[in-house]
Amino acid sequence: MVQIAKKADPDERLETLGKLAQFDVTGMPLLFASGKRSLRFHFIYPAVGEKGNCVNLFKVLQSNLCEHNCFYCVNRKARDCPRVEFTPEELSQLFLRYWRKGWVKGLFLSSAIHPTPDQAQEKMFRTILLLRRRYGYRGYIHCKILPGSDEAFIEKIGPLVDRLSINLEAPAQKYLARLSPDKQFQPQLWERLKKIAIYNSIHPLRAGVTTQLVVGASGESDREILSLSQNLYQGYNTRRIYYSGFIPVGDTPLQQLPPCPSLREARLYQADFLLRRYGFKTEELVFEEKNNLLLDKDPKLAWALNHPDRFPIELNTASFEQLIRVPGIGRILAKRIIETRRHTRFRDLEQRKKLRALASRA
Ligand code: SF4
Repeated sequence: MVQIAKKADPDERLETLGKLAQFDVTGMPLLFASGKRSLRFHFIYPAVGEKGNCVNLFKVLQSNLCEHNCFYCVNRKARDCPRVEFTPEELSQLFLRYWRKGWVKGLFLSSAIHPTPDQAQEKMFRTILLLRRRYGYRGYIHCKILPGSDEAFIEKIGPLVDRLSINLEAPAQKYLARLSPDKQFQPQLWERLKKIAIYNSIHPLRAGVTTQLVVGASGESDREILSLSQNLYQGYNTRRIYYSGFIPVGDTPLQQLPPCPSLREARLYQADFLLRRYGFKTEELVFEEKNNLLLDKDPKLAWALNHPDRFPIELNTASFEQLIRVPGIGRILAKRIIETRRHTRFRDLEQRKKLRALASRA
């Protein structure tokens, strides 16, 4: 029986929705974060940035009423849980209160889908419109585009936000069917992501376009995930792809599945980094027989061990591209090596240590 807690105090509703939104965690695993996740409120989400820095976002659902029955989801229609929603006015006021206190730096707005994708998306649009037009809020907003909503929302919401995203959830239809049987990969998710990418190419969004995949619940392999990621980075100028390790939720059809190991999630982020920043191709990465990344070695080290022909390299003459392929040498260190060798030659390991090279590994 679905209970709609509309009468509850907005703060109580906020905490309820914030708690439920924790199952939709996006961002690099805290393995990469420099800060600690010790927040008092569930709706304050420490988004982990590119350099491991944390930025607190107000992450909440406009509503957790949903018409869908995704097998893994805490808010699926058939699941008995508190159902709450906000009017655009309520949610914009709540956000501004915490933003003015300095507790959050921006808004990450999502929603479950009720009663229709268009009506749910319209409410989100109106929340954002109030913030921008009536209250003059100029800070960061990330808005999710809901599967099945009219593509005209991309044009309506795009000019008001910094980032747009839609969750692909899985790398292909056959895997999506094991997670979200009511959704169609091609027309509802993939085509919509392409439309967002086209919008972004014409009207660049300050924080770009992102998507998110659920990892470890549908039998998908890391190779399939990373092939999709490569396609999205190269063909659609996607800013980031988030890998959300599956966590079983009670009273859902997938409650018996084991959780995705956090190390698998971490390896995917490392491999993703190699694709985005180090010029690697998915085909070059090392996978085990089930087409998953090795858990006991980071992907760059695994690649290096598989390519003894590429090592050692001569520090005094190696190109930037050769340097950044050495485990332990990142982009910053590679630049410093190239800068240093303009006026001196590397003769011994001590000089490398002075450059803070991870000498033993490198
Ligand atoms: S659409 Fe699926 S994943 Fe999204 S809230 Fe509804 S049941 Fe959950």
